[in-house]
Amino acid sequence: MKTLQDFNFNNQKAIIRVDFNVPLDENFNVTDTTRIEAAKPTIDKIIADGGSVVLMSHLGRPKGFDDQFSLRHIVVSVEKILGHKVTFVNDCIGSVVEEAVASLDKGSILLLENLRFYGEEEKGDIPFAEKLSKFGDIYVNDAFGTAHRAHASTTIIAQFYPHKKCFGLLLAKEIDSINKVLSDSVKPVTAILGGSKVSSKITVIENILDKVNHMIIGGGMTFTFVKALGGSIGNSICEDDKLELAINILKLAKEKGVQIHLPIDVIAADSFSNDANTQVVDVKSIPDGWQGLDAGPKSLIIFDRILNDSKTILWNGPLGVFEMDTFSKGTIALGESIATATKNGAFSLVGGGDSVAAVKQFGLEPKMSYVSTGGGAMLEMLEGRVLPGIAAILNE
Ligand code: AMP
Repeated sequence: MKTLQDFNFNNQKAIIRVDFNVPLDENFNVTDTTRIEAAKPTIDKIIADGGSVVLMSHLGRPKGFDDQFSLRHIVVSVEKILGHKVTFVNDCIGSVVEEAVASLDKGSILLLENLRFYGEEEKGDIPFAEKLSKFGDIYVNDAFGTAHRAHASTTIIAQFYPHKKCFGLLLAKEIDSINKVLSDSVKPVTAILGGSKVSSKITVIENILDKVNHMIIGGGMTFTFVKALGGSIGNSICEDDKLELAINILKLAKEKGVQIHLPIDVIAADSFSNDANTQVVDVKSIPDGWQGLDAGPKSLIIFDRILNDSKTILWNGPLGVFEMDTFSKGTIALGESIATATKNGAFSLVGGGDSVAAVKQFGLEPKMSYVSTGGGAMLEMLEGRVLPGIAAILNE
């Protein structure tokens, strides 16, 4: 796996695909700079080597040129975070870019306009990718958030750089973190899969059953399993067409020696609302008219014990409706159990679902070993797929 460390960028122009798809408020101020900060180490290393940098990214989902989606809005934030002047060019191909690239001095940074102003980007158009490839000597992909897309700038462009392409530090760290969980893991390994639906997580469950010792299944998914096992789930969320699948997963886990843990008790509510009446009930005996919206206290004690004994932890999806205060306790407690296990030496990876939002919301992010920057991309990796953006760098 070729990374940034395999190259010396002295007198080289690096063209970097970054993920600067950041949220903006109504005055076009960047409201979350995480993605820009995440790209800084890669940019710093190239500049420190004596190279120059051409940054390319998408922003939002524009249909053609549209100033609302211009990357010009983020230049001030990028300059502030990088501590470096950034020259913006108001196109991503054509003569204006050619001129800016030709006059790019050692140590300078150029930011191209939104790639998605051209439909060719998402189509993975080869001539468009070839045009982009003229703007750098070495191609660096550091955009994990779009690595699952075979777009011109994330995948197709790599074919124009035989032996002169590599992963940026962020993308390398994402790959390394997932490998620590799925291939070179220290046992016991525990995966926590939460979120709303079995249907959206089934491929992940199937893929990781071979790699884990314990699987905690929580969130809305719980009730499809509990109903399949003959429990009464009241009005809890359930996918009736997945009951057989749930039984098959449990059977498969047994064959593979994986211990599946479902919540044994839940916080049940009489409506889907923050100020609903609530009660703690056995997960198999939820009264009619009530729905399970969070894991209960007995379950949290069991989960804590399992996590305490784990050396590798993967967390994908919340344990309850954490967006509402009343039903956030389970997700917070689980996050704290993972934080303690991490402090005691376990490796913890959070990614591929709303658990990333949850750890950020509850200030737990610094207590995890790694929090992934790519939702969809991480989910596809957990499903066992080879991401096109990663394959494109690996294929010489
Ligand atoms: P995901 O995107 O698959 O990680 O799903 C996250 C969503 O699942 C969050 O918006 C949670 O509110 C929701 N969720 C978690 N537990 C439950 C539950 N018991 N009932 C309904 N929705 C839930």
